[in-house]
Amino acid sequence: MPERDSLEVDVLFVGGGPASLAGAIRLGQLAKAGGRELSIMVIEKGGEIGNHGFSGAVVDPKSLLELFPGEDITAGLDAPVSGDEMWFLTASGKIKAPFTPPVLNNHGKYVASLNRLTKWLGEKAEAAGADVFPAFPGQELLWDGDRVIGVRVGDKGVAADGSHKPNYEPGPDLLARVVVLGEGPRGTLAKTAIAKLGLDRDRDPQVYAVGIKELWQVPAGRLAPGHVIHTLGAPLPGDTFGGGWIYGMNGDVIDIGLVTGLDYADPTTDPHNLFQQMKLLPAIRPLLEGGKMIRYGAKAIPEGGLHAMPRLYADGLCLIGDSAGFLNGLRLKGIHLAIKSGMLAADAIFDALAADRSDAAALAAYEQKFRASWAFTELHAARNFHAGFKSGLFGGMLNAALGTLTGGRGFGLHDKLTGHEGYARMRKLDSFTPAAREKRVTPDNALTFDKVTDVYNSGTMHDENQPAHLHVADTTICADRCTTEFGNPCQYFCPAAVYEPLFEKTAAGVEGRLQINFANCVHCKTCDIMDPYQIITWVPPQGGEGPVYTGM
Ligand code: SF4
Repeated sequence: MPERDSLEVDVLFVGGGPASLAGAIRLGQLAKAGGRELSIMVIEKGGEIGNHGFSGAVVDPKSLLELFPGEDITAGLDAPVSGDEMWFLTASGKIKAPFTPPVLNNHGKYVASLNRLTKWLGEKAEAAGADVFPAFPGQELLWDGDRVIGVRVGDKGVAADGSHKPNYEPGPDLLARVVVLGEGPRGTLAKTAIAKLGLDRDRDPQVYAVGIKELWQVPAGRLAPGHVIHTLGAPLPGDTFGGGWIYGMNGDVIDIGLVTGLDYADPTTDPHNLFQQMKLLPAIRPLLEGGKMIRYGAKAIPEGGLHAMPRLYADGLCLIGDSAGFLNGLRLKGIHLAIKSGMLAADAIFDALAADRSDAAALAAYEQKFRASWAFTELHAARNFHAGFKSGLFGGMLNAALGTLTGGRGFGLHDKLTGHEGYARMRKLDSFTPAAREKRVTPDNALTFDKVTDVYNSGTMHDENQPAHLHVADTTICADRCTTEFGNPCQYFCPAAVYEPLFEKTAAGVEGRLQINFANCVHCKTCDIMDPYQIITWVPPQGGEGPVYTGM
């Protein structure tokens, strides 16, 4: 066994996104105001803070204003929202909504690059006294019985065959009085802790969507900075949850993306291909034509809402941000909630440590503070938003509209459990005729691109001589069952061409293998979520790798 360094801190935040950084900043502020010494550490798997920051994004500045009272918070944001539109897209054009629904009114909000906002928060966290370590992936939780006592950081320099390369460095064990998991959607450590401790008992299963996005440099004046357009309808089939966004950013950049619910039925659904279809629509094409695609990325989004949030605390542990489902699908916003969750956790942790405690009973104050906050009120009002789409787009829209009039009750779906994770809604291949399946776009490399070209534009890098970070528990299922039953949907749902099923039907059965091009992976987590047999586990690769989402 390698000798590992071990380091002790008071509070360890895993994942350097807005939730963790806001938590670290708040703890630093509290420690300073209270004249107490606290060691606060943030670790992040990306090579730099912000590299893996991916979102739309229109940011509600509410929680930033709370975190930095009296300070100018616009340095972390892009342009104030200057206009709001809602379009219903069709194959031949668009129907513009005569008004924007009140919940989507973005007056007073800002378009932003999460990459830049996160970098700015990272600097603020360091200024508040936190130690921030990029290229430190949280690989494994350290336990004392059912109590979390720390995190093991992933090793560097392990070759594909498991041997140690000359640059081998064992990851240190970071021991903490409280570990706070803010790893983003479907966090690796959060998934382990939720399962081991049953933190999702009596809650709805979390359901996700995947957002696919490109940044486009366009001719001057194409879309005003701060202009916000949200779309429904084409190219998504009526029974698939989701919608699109088009935001005008500073510098004549258009931020365009499509959200596809990861609870679709057709196993050949390909969110990347749907996004290419979106750009070809007559309402969208003129916005981008003559421009140049400059960045690409993809990321899962927790859409389940309040009913799908796990218990937020355990002995030595808090869950924050997307890892805990802090996202309002109705408002298409999560960053303000992520920041608020980090702040609320920090408040509870500060009080607990002051009483020399970090047990679950003391950290339960985090959930109590959440329930007493505007974040709970907001999520409660949106609690049935996603469930309403079980009956399709129009049922979902009607339920959302009804929900705004009934305090979130909608069709009366209030406390009903949905019972199924998104992957369980996928139907077998023979339920669909070939004619009913999604039409594939042939990329023209001007407006539309294949997945490999898009991955190149995500800045993704992984050393190929390391163990694959996508673990497929039993590839015989891929060959013997999945090929026939679902047609290997991993080749479609992965937006980065990681999975290549090289299977062939022969007289002796199905032969071949599943090739995993893990170096392409943009860390979106879709495969971990949507695999119909739940045999794919995403784990962090060695630190400092993955996408580089500059400006995203
Ligand atoms: Fe996303 Fe999985 Fe593909 Fe990586 S391998 S890009 S996590 S779907």
